[in-house]
Amino acid sequence: MTETIFPEANSPEAVFPETTASEPLSCFDPAVNGGAMLPVAESIERILSQLSWPQQNEEVALAEAVNRVLAQDQISTINVPQQTNSAMDGYAICAAALKENEQQSFKVVGQVFAGGSYPGTVSPGEAVEIMTGAPVPAGTDSIIMREMTELQGDQMTFSGPVAVGQHVRQRGEDISAGSAALSAGCLIRPQEQGLLASLGMQKVKVYRQLTVAVFSTGDEVVPQGQPLPENCIYDTNRFTLMGLLQRMGCKVIDLGIIEDNQQVMESTLSEAAGQADMVISSGGVSMGQADYIKLALQAVGEINFWRIAMRPGRPLAFGQLGSDTGTVAGKETGTDTSKTPFFGLPGNPVAVMVTFLQFVQPALRKMMGQRDWQPVRMTAVAEHTLKSRLNRIDYSRGIYRINDQGQLVVSSTGAQGSGILTSMVQANCLIEIGEPLAQVEAGQSVLIQPFGD
Ligand code: AMP
Ligand code: MG
Repeated sequence: MTETIFPEANSPEAVFPETTASEPLSCFDPAVNGGAMLPVAESIERILSQLSWPQQNEEVALAEAVNRVLAQDQISTINVPQQTNSAMDGYAICAAALKENEQQSFKVVGQVFAGGSYPGTVSPGEAVEIMTGAPVPAGTDSIIMREMTELQGDQMTFSGPVAVGQHVRQRGEDISAGSAALSAGCLIRPQEQGLLASLGMQKVKVYRQLTVAVFSTGDEVVPQGQPLPENCIYDTNRFTLMGLLQRMGCKVIDLGIIEDNQQVMESTLSEAAGQADMVISSGGVSMGQADYIKLALQAVGEINFWRIAMRPGRPLAFGQLGSDTGTVAGKETGTDTSKTPFFGLPGNPVAVMVTFLQFVQPALRKMMGQRDWQPVRMTAVAEHTLKSRLNRIDYSRGIYRINDQGQLVVSSTGAQGSGILTSMVQANCLIEIGEPLAQVEAGQSVLIQPFGD
């Protein structure tokens, strides 16, 4: 599959609405150097600079909070654990009073269970049998694991070294009362959910859930549930996008496939912008497309058509639907009722997923309120030569694994045509080969972006 470019990018009348003479970023301005491309990092910066952090929040039950983002610092009102307690089943003793290199023998004076407490103070030379989670009795500081001990009558003996404080969990060692257990902007994963539960939270304040509208374009794209006409293709991208969005915790408005008609496109865009926090389409942004999408986008918003220095996914449209004067119907919720970010992703199914991961995901993370988000990247050793193109970031589909030597290695899935969706299915990562490289040799390190974060 050859990639196409925007007609605007080759024409001297090209208009890049957000590029002004004062900006140094003319590298992708076709009038300057024949249509060089916008680097990926620059595109992400431009996108993020047009988006704001969320303002609105709501309270949700803790059980519903996974995949949401905390809207306030979570200050703990309790110590976790609340009491200094045992991490093992065994015997609580005072190790500080032990003499070195002597056979240790203790009189067992009582028992303490989790949830209970030992009423007295334990003297040196005495031990209390203790269960995991039970509070450490007064006078003791360490736990001897039961497996290390022998019991005869009420005499417990053990040998071997003891470190003062061993197998004891100190009060507040996990979270101390008054400290921020979690910060605003943190994504609630199952582990954060558990931590919030350990603080006794029943409800948490989170940023509002995002609603994203998706649609497909193209007369050749047909919905499932009907026979496939000749020269047509079932709509793939809408489902990939809906899955990606659902996995990120977004609500999805499915607008289906929009017919090739400017009027319909305009009304779809306006309506979608009124209902959703973001609108995403696929197809129709590269050269050779009926111009109705671009005309419709120009009519309802300020959209930029970029050629990005990447493969796959070079054409990308991004901008805002609506205007400062509010041409889009006011939304009930949302940070700015008159503007809704729009992404026009390329039509090729692989390019859709790659561009979603590189551009839409960071945008959504910001709009969700997630601070300090970065795509997960690591380095792996190439198992064979990997081809790229100079001056573009190449995202090929890869399979990473740990080899027999315990090394993280990566290989290509094979044919990398941007329409070959099975390459995505075989892959567990994208291999990211930077602009300056045309090739990575076997044995060299290369960046990978594992799927599934
Ligand atoms: P476009 O970007 O519209 O030129 O589309 C590029 C390629 O992607 C063409 O082969 C289209 O048929 C294909 N394509 C566009 N939209 C979809 C879709 N929703 N599902 C599957 N393939 C698509
Ligand atoms: Mg098309």
